[in-house]
Amino acid sequence: MTTAPLRLGISRCLLGEEVRFDGGHKRDTFLTEVFGRYVEWVPVCPEVEAGLGIPREAMRLVGDPQDPKLVTIKSGTDHTLALETMTTNRIEELKELDLSGYVFKKGSPSCGIERVRIYNEHGMPSRNGVGLFARAFIEQFPLIPVEEEGRLCDPRLRENFIERVFCYRRWQDLVQSGVTRQALVQFHTIHKYLLLAHHPQQCEVLGRLIGHTPQHRPKGLAHRYGELFMKTLAVKTTVRKHVNVLQHILGYFKERLGAHEKAELLGLIGDYHHGLTPLIVPLTLIKHYVQLFDLSYIREQVYLNSHPKELMLRNHV
Ligand code: SF4
Repeated sequence: MTTAPLRLGISRCLLGEEVRFDGGHKRDTFLTEVFGRYVEWVPVCPEVEAGLGIPREAMRLVGDPQDPKLVTIKSGTDHTLALETMTTNRIEELKELDLSGYVFKKGSPSCGIERVRIYNEHGMPSRNGVGLFARAFIEQFPLIPVEEEGRLCDPRLRENFIERVFCYRRWQDLVQSGVTRQALVQFHTIHKYLLLAHHPQQCEVLGRLIGHTPQHRPKGLAHRYGELFMKTLAVKTTVRKHVNVLQHILGYFKERLGAHEKAELLGLIGDYHHGLTPLIVPLTLIKHYVQLFDLSYIREQVYLNSHPKELMLRNHV
């Protein structure tokens, strides 16, 4: 899949470390025990690293949603500057670590990436804030996949995030090995069906980008491609888009199937379409035929193995 270590940032409390304001933690067993087998975590607790103690007074965001302050609830102490200073320094360190993703703690005024409570001058909350550290991280690393632990309970969001992490790692590998036009074409070729499962039109745009723009230097082209590639993968897949991809792949070998085998495979695709089986069922039979007929173009498609099978992500989508 990729040879470099998969290194992800994470809100430290999700690993079970007792760094929360109340001295507790928010250990997430999927992250620590399942996904953690494939990941080298880089734990960050912005509040502790900003010099705030454990335990500490609970805090919240207040004021302008675009430029909020981080203020303690009871005493009204403003910790914004401490957080901002820590963030600037930590982001410089993170630049050196070649991160392929980040899992943030939801709802936190420092770590939440969306719908964080932010209070106006009358003490009324609205849910349109972003944690101070998380906001700065996303601005600095716009292509790195980020997600909150709460959303990873949804099988589709979980699959999407982990798939993007592995894709981004491959993209980093390509960029670090030096992008050539030929390498970019090869990269696009092996991701084609995966892109198709996310956004067929954008997949075409990406294909045209590398096929018809000889005037672009590889570096500039890679920059545009990488941005659109990650954006496309962030678009959710749907059952209908997966069915479309499965049928495309079937087109490569259906003439070689007997009537019984063809009916069986079409039946499984139909069952998946109607919500009777998960994606893994038709996909497993397709992979069997791809091996049997030695279809190298299809066999190399990331779509068939976009993350380790032990994670069983496609058993639930
Ligand atoms: S949510 Fe962020 S700031 Fe709060 S304890 Fe966890 S890592 Fe630290």
